[in-house]
Amino acid sequence: TAKEAGKSRSAVFDHPLNDTFMERMNIEKHLYKAMENNEFELFYQPQVDLSLNKVTGLEALLRWNSPELGFVSPYKFIKIAEDSHLIIPLGAWVLRTACAFLKSLHEKGLTDLSMSVNISMLQILQTDFNEMVINTLQACDLSPKYLELELTETVLVESYDHVLYKLNELREHNVKIALDDFGTGYSSLSYLTHLPITTLKIDKSFIDSIHTGTHQAVLIEQIIIIGKRMNMCVVAEGVEQTLQLEYLQQQGCDKIQGYIYSKPQSAQNVEQLLLEWEHTGIGTPVDNICNN
Ligand code: C2E
Ligand code: MG
Ligand code: MG
Ligand code: MG
Repeated sequence: TAKEAGKSRSAVFDHPLNDTFMERMNIEKHLYKAMENNEFELFYQPQVDLSLNKVTGLEALLRWNSPELGFVSPYKFIKIAEDSHLIIPLGAWVLRTACAFLKSLHEKGLTDLSMSVNISMLQILQTDFNEMVINTLQACDLSPKYLELELTETVLVESYDHVLYKLNELREHNVKIALDDFGTGYSSLSYLTHLPITTLKIDKSFIDSIHTGTHQAVLIEQIIIIGKRMNMCVVAEGVEQTLQLEYLQQQGCDKIQGYIYSKPQSAQNVEQLLLEWEHTGIGTPVDNICNN
């Protein structure tokens, strides 16, 4: 019957695996020319220091608006950019753009602000990675202490000794190192004692577990305690609710990044917001719950 024929056809063409494969191919095809066509943009999300009640940093987050594909999530295209090695020039562009923007904010009087930039494993493994970072800072006339590189735990598992050497060298220059998505990877806690980590970023999944009465909610207390005892800055990511914020404050978390204060925004909009907050203060945070 027609129904059966339709079914078997969809079994071939609409199988989830095929969809993913086609989607991947399609993204990869358009990704190659996206850089030269200036289709990438950086958005920036404020990080609020809870004891100062002030924005002390921004995280740069890549956005791709493709004329053919529309907005593509970084969760999709970053992986493909890594596999195709496009992440090397793209990551260098991200660093340059973020540092230049930070410099321009310093010049507008926002002199305490730092910049956090996400780095892929493949980037660190490039022999000239540290040199590229230092050169970029110099070209922007920025002190390295204003830059924080965000790494995930998978970076560390892959090539431990080599990565350790490079991170130590970057720390000697005073670049900060954050462990991103902490608690979600395969990390052993001993990484924390051996690597020159300055900042722990607690993953959103832990923040979501606050007030659920689960074991994950217990872990978050311990993560904060361990981070503090090791003199790290502890940052909570993906904070959306005032109840979460109050809890994190009680537990001694240092900084908050989440929709409760601000979503990631374009350079122009975030600059406007920061200059406004310089005068008015950051105001009362409001619940901003988003299920994605
Ligand atoms: P990430 O580094 O862990 O960044 C945090 C993600 O959480 C961002 O997603 C941010 O928009 C989102 N987020 C922040 N606060 C909230 C909140 O309160 N609620 C919710 N629902 N989400 C929140 P985004 O921008 O989609 O980026 C996803 C991931 O893509 C990043 O996770 C990072 O791993 C990667 N990424 C983004 N930009 C770059 C880049 O320039 N280079 C590299 N290598 N990776 C990047
Ligand atoms: Mg990050
Ligand atoms: Mg994260
Ligand atoms: Mg992540």
